[in-house]
Amino acid sequence: MTTYREPLDSVLETIGETPLVRVHDSPDEVPVYAKLESFNPGASIKDRIGKYMLEGMLERGDVAPGGTIIEPTAGNTGIGIAVAAGQLDLDAVFVVPERFSVEKQTLMRALGADVINTPSEDGMGRAIERAHELADELDNAAVPQQFSNPLNAEAHYETTGPEIYDALDGEVGALVAGCGTAGTLMGMARYGREQHEDTHVVAVEPEGSLYGTLLGQEREEGEYKTEGIGTHDTSTNELFDPELVDTVHAVPDQDSHAEVQRLAAEEGHLVASSAGANAVAAKKVAQRIADGEVDAPYDAVVTVFPDSSERYLSKGIYGEYEEWEG
Ligand code: PMP
Repeated sequence: MTTYREPLDSVLETIGETPLVRVHDSPDEVPVYAKLESFNPGASIKDRIGKYMLEGMLERGDVAPGGTIIEPTAGNTGIGIAVAAGQLDLDAVFVVPERFSVEKQTLMRALGADVINTPSEDGMGRAIERAHELADELDNAAVPQQFSNPLNAEAHYETTGPEIYDALDGEVGALVAGCGTAGTLMGMARYGREQHEDTHVVAVEPEGSLYGTLLGQEREEGEYKTEGIGTHDTSTNELFDPELVDTVHAVPDQDSHAEVQRLAAEEGHLVASSAGANAVAAKKVAQRIADGEVDAPYDAVVTVFPDSSERYLSKGIYGEYEEWEG
């Protein structure tokens, strides 16, 4: 973990270099490690792409200082973009379907962003459309569009991946991560496969999500409560490259929820549902490697804990499963 010995000039300098911590409920011979992304200033993994995409777009001239960034986003990406926009002389506007976490929308506003709500029943599709309409109406405005922007995965190729390999002296056997946009997993996996071409790569999704179909795995579509990962429409998952993934592991909501509570009670991690899903999947991968069912170049299995449970307390993340709103 980075120790900051010198004063820094901007909060943007505190993004990344997050700690990698052993998950103890895993086989001794195949340790699982998780990267704690709530250590970022906006408290999620999405700070990395907020900074990286905006700096990249400024460099390319997609938008100039004083301009406006408009993103259809339900949460963490909005916070990450808002943190970066505020420090890079950009305004931020987020188009968010109403049903998403109120805490996240409050934080985006606190960071100086405007939040526009679209009706929940119109889904993310309408939010995306509205973001582009707004960008067309304004001068000097751009939509990063994390689902199709290669800078999203590149942020993780340039930062998350190298940080993991540095921490473990390159001895990484498997990379496991939940896919929303798939930017996290794609960036890590591309970096990892360059270090060792046999690195085992596992995507994680909630049961009911359809990522598995992209690898020809059987899936039954259904609702899920796990927030931040999964897809109902794989045509939107433009960053996901099946060539970089060995298998997609589907985790039932109930298991992710139970793991979130175990991680807090036993290991002191205040993390949210996608971290629960990642931990469940990573432990399964570790067991398979330990049992000789999966070949991996080294023993360590690495995953990420994308954000903190504090963002979901009002949704009952530490309550009974039935009452948890997801
Ligand atoms: N977990 C949480 C809480 C998230 O907000 C996201 C982003 N949607 C993810 C996991 C998945 O990350 P990615 O979009 O890079 O696949």
